[in-house]
Amino acid sequence: MMVAQPPADTLVQPRSAAESPGMTNQGVRLCGISKFYENFPALKNVSIDIAPGEFLTLLGPSGSGKTTTMMAIAGFTDVTSGEVYIEGRRVDMLPPHKRNIGVVFQHLALFPHLSVEDNLAFPLRMRGVKEAAIATKVRSALELVHLSAFADRLPNQLSGGQQQRVALARAIIFDPPVLLLDEPLSALDRKLRESMQNELKNLQRKLGVTTVMVTHDQEEALAVSDRIAVMNNGEVVQLDTPEMLYEKPNSLFVADFIGHSTKLEGVVTSLTQTGCRVRTKGGMELSGQPTDAPVGSTVSVVIRPERFAFDAATRDDNHAFGQIVESTYAGDAVTYSIKTESSETLMVKLNNLKNTRHPVMGDRTQVSWKVTDTMVFATDR
Ligand code: ADP
Ligand code: MG
Repeated sequence: MMVAQPPADTLVQPRSAAESPGMTNQGVRLCGISKFYENFPALKNVSIDIAPGEFLTLLGPSGSGKTTTMMAIAGFTDVTSGEVYIEGRRVDMLPPHKRNIGVVFQHLALFPHLSVEDNLAFPLRMRGVKEAAIATKVRSALELVHLSAFADRLPNQLSGGQQQRVALARAIIFDPPVLLLDEPLSALDRKLRESMQNELKNLQRKLGVTTVMVTHDQEEALAVSDRIAVMNNGEVVQLDTPEMLYEKPNSLFVADFIGHSTKLEGVVTSLTQTGCRVRTKGGMELSGQPTDAPVGSTVSVVIRPERFAFDAATRDDNHAFGQIVESTYAGDAVTYSIKTESSETLMVKLNNLKNTRHPVMGDRTQVSWKVTDTMVFATDR
């Protein structure tokens, strides 16, 4: 029988949760999930709508509830309350094998005594697929992850990256509606991890499989995700696109967790329609973005490292004078610690462009940054 295949380069555009309201969501839907271990709340009322074909990442510090959320979707953890839907079907009372989900764990579990080919065939044999169909599927899965020449190898005859690709191929070979990835790339070295991030994202787009990934690596999350759910203490504290999380974090926690930024303590001295004024601990007077912190309250001012400039400030910009006390060369960029006249530290990153003079250790310099890049958050959130 001929089955019409979509062209290999078809991109499945994820629909936003807003366009797929409520019960009609054909992706994954978590509805007020809570999980208690004894009296300890590992998850507190977590609700996430994941659109069909979307790549959603759970990002947060260790212990924030990422794995528990993932396990609640897969069915390896019973939830204390709440509901889980996959393709519109309620699954929270079903065992894992009835949920038909593809899973890749951090410590991948390829069968060491089976060849690559037989590892891939395994989930299909479990499902009673005919041998002829299995051979075809294994061949195309191997092509998908660029391992056609490795079908007969045993896992220990492959590199770490190749093993990870086999694990990925095995998770998607039975066309699951949902793919779960728990820290899938964390065992790989940096360079391989970055190239695997691209492969993973391309493969996920090509297949259009709804994907939930867990990571504690914010750069990885920004690189691969359509949206990111930032978790802290068993709660989703912000669910947004990578751009929004970086540009418009909704709390000090999120601003601090994503990126390596300057953080200055201060007090709000006035509020206007378009922003606020802050006096820092060291006595700098800064203009900042709107904040919900009241006048007189303690705040943290957050500025991204790449938003500083060494040239003279234009009239409305914030600026400071200081001395370079540390500089770190990273090839593509140089990062500086600048001690200001107010004895505060600015973390500044400058792209390493050719033919520009870079400041060096000991230089006294003026730094400026825009009010729109000056984020102000209540400190106690
Ligand atoms: P993450 O994956 O974000 O690091 P987890 O989801 O694994 O976090 O864990 C969330 C919280 O639940 C942690 O505080 C952890 O100690 C706790 N926890 C996880 N599993 C158990 C368990 N089986 N018994 C008791 N507490 C647990
Ligand atoms: Mg975990």
